[in-house]
Amino acid sequence: MSPSLNLESPLRDEPDDAELEPSPSLSAAERRHQRLRDFAEAASDWFWEMGPDLRFTYLSERIRDVVGLGPEFFLGKRREDFLDSSLDPEALRAHLDDLRNRRSFRDFNYTIKRPDAELSVVQISGKPFYDGAGNFRGYRGTGTDITSFIKSQRELEQTDALLRTTLEHMNQGISVTDADLNIVLWNDRFLELLEFPKGFAGEHGRPFADFIRYNAERGEYGPGDAEEQVRERVELAMRFEPHCFQRTRPDGVVIEIAGLPLPGGGFVTTYTDVTEKVRQETQLREQAEEMARLVEDLQRSNSELEQFAYVASHDLQEPLRMVASYCQLLQRRYEDKLDQDANEFIGFAVDGAERMQALINALLSYSRVGRSERPKRPDCMAEAAETARRDLQKAIEESGATVDIGSLPEVTGDAVELRQLLQNLIANGIKFRGDAAPQVSIGAEREGDLWTLSVRDNGIGIDPAYAERIFLIFQRLHTRDAYPGTGIGLSVCKKIVERHGGRLWVESDGKNGSTFKFTLPASEERES
Ligand code: ADP
Repeated sequence: MSPSLNLESPLRDEPDDAELEPSPSLSAAERRHQRLRDFAEAASDWFWEMGPDLRFTYLSERIRDVVGLGPEFFLGKRREDFLDSSLDPEALRAHLDDLRNRRSFRDFNYTIKRPDAELSVVQISGKPFYDGAGNFRGYRGTGTDITSFIKSQRELEQTDALLRTTLEHMNQGISVTDADLNIVLWNDRFLELLEFPKGFAGEHGRPFADFIRYNAERGEYGPGDAEEQVRERVELAMRFEPHCFQRTRPDGVVIEIAGLPLPGGGFVTTYTDVTEKVRQETQLREQAEEMARLVEDLQRSNSELEQFAYVASHDLQEPLRMVASYCQLLQRRYEDKLDQDANEFIGFAVDGAERMQALINALLSYSRVGRSERPKRPDCMAEAAETARRDLQKAIEESGATVDIGSLPEVTGDAVELRQLLQNLIANGIKFRGDAAPQVSIGAEREGDLWTLSVRDNGIGIDPAYAERIFLIFQRLHTRDAYPGTGIGLSVCKKIVERHGGRLWVESDGKNGSTFKFTLPASEERES
């Protein structure tokens, strides 16, 4: 930084000047003088000289380039006359002390205010000189401009401070290892998470192997020779491959360690406390497993129940048919022979048996939904509506109803079940009529991936309080005398819609008709 150029000594040992510069016009002293001046002007540093009173007696021209002030500015002045006041007083005192005691000095830094108000930082070195009689004659020395060096040093310090602050404020631990596996940068969080003693990394870092050894000695890697464990791990690390693993501390804290190799060797490693994440993941996994178990149980008990309903209703049909037919036989054959009461009782029995038959048939049709092996077909909705209307022709004619079928979408489904669905809804629309002739209209609207189909009637409506209940099996809002039925129709409809991936509900104000709506997924493959 500060080449202390002794202007005299190198020249003493030189060969004869005449040999080097055989110019007859210059004396040896002049030539020596000329040479010194050339050196002084060519150097990037400048040279200075002070008299015994410590006032400047000489400065080389170079100073003008560096601080923007020529030698004339300094000549006759003492250094303290133009020093910038920002100088550390301790450093100045030490320097003045050196001068007073005529000591040589090296690398004294101070700032000079330039004419453009910028500050130049200079670094000077000097030594006292004496005359032949040993009298102190002053100081001679060099000066160097270190402004840009100081500036970059400050920038570096700032960057370093910024990096340090950032690292220390991170919730993650971090360590950086150089190509020789020395940990050169780290934060306290790293030491804390891996339970190394505070200050373990020292002032400027220490070898990665020391950390491993510490772990090995505290039994972190299980039984075995600690040095062997260190060697294995250092060897593995020297491969500089990306890695990520979890370590569970004895207190249950889980740390995720992720190492990323640096170009040219070394690692950046992050240490994250993932205890909470791991706990949540485990909890979620357990919940999902529990949920899957419950779903499986539910599916099993559902299918057992369906199987039971199907078998029961199917097997009950036969004995019931027998009860009904023998009751009817009794009625036909002994009507004349029995008294009024007996005939009435037999009448009740026949009626009960017939009702039970109707209920069992309804239950059977309910449990049949979804049991069929029929393949689902696209484009079956319009066909299902037409068939339903045809099957209801008799009821339509008798009630004077009109059934309008709007344009219906292409949806994929079981044609038989969809017909049954529409037939139940249309039949209800006709059955639950008011004073006017029934009017039923079927329409559809698309919303995103779903079609919403609607079956609207002008009948007696449904009190919104019962809008949910009517879909339950055997639930009816009226007596059999007012409106015949078993109360199974809408539960069959609901089962069919749900099996097709949709939802069924009713909208009504309880007076002016009802609109049953259900959604079905649009048949994407067909449409695309
Ligand atoms: P059912 O028609 O055999 O009574 P449903 O399950 O089809 O059985 O209907 C259940 C009840 O919902 C009916 O008893 C009736 O009270 C009510 N309901 C169904 N559809 C309509 C409708 N279109 N208008 C008014 N009420 C209805």
